[in-house]
Amino acid sequence: MKAFYRTVLYGEYAGASQFHRTETSQTLWEVKLLNVDFCCKKMEEAFYDHYVGFGEYDSTLNKEATINIFHSDHFPEGCSTDSLSIEYCPFCGAKIECIEQEKAELKKKIKITPAKEETIFEEEVVKDERQDSKGTD
Ligand SMILES: [Zn+2]
Repeated sequence: MKAFYRTVLYGEYAGASQFHRTETSQTLWEVKLLNVDFCCKKMEEAFYDHYVGFGEYDSTLNKEATINIFHSDHFPEGCSTDSLSIEYCPFCGAKIECIEQEKAELKKKIKITPAKEETIFEEEVVKDERQDSKGTD
């Protein structure tokens, strides 16, 4: 199984900074799943039924670029879920790889329509420097 993800660097535009007070907006980042190539049907079912997933369970800023199995404890006050990373598929034994496909930066943009001017935030993919140097050979 292969999971492809994007690393997003928030730079100075950190709308989510209230969740991670120990981080400055300059260092805020997260990983987001883009695509999955499943190794077997069972893993695909487990993934869509949330027995396994990419990164932390239900997180706001996910920093775990791993495939995890989830476990929940239920209390009268609520429920807590932990995750445990796995390196091989428990159903077919295939290796699990998480591959960073791209990096992106959150950019502030001004969108002007005839009616109004609007500020929006968009993730812009950053070019890989290693690929740039390959092109000059
Ligand atoms: Zn499998």
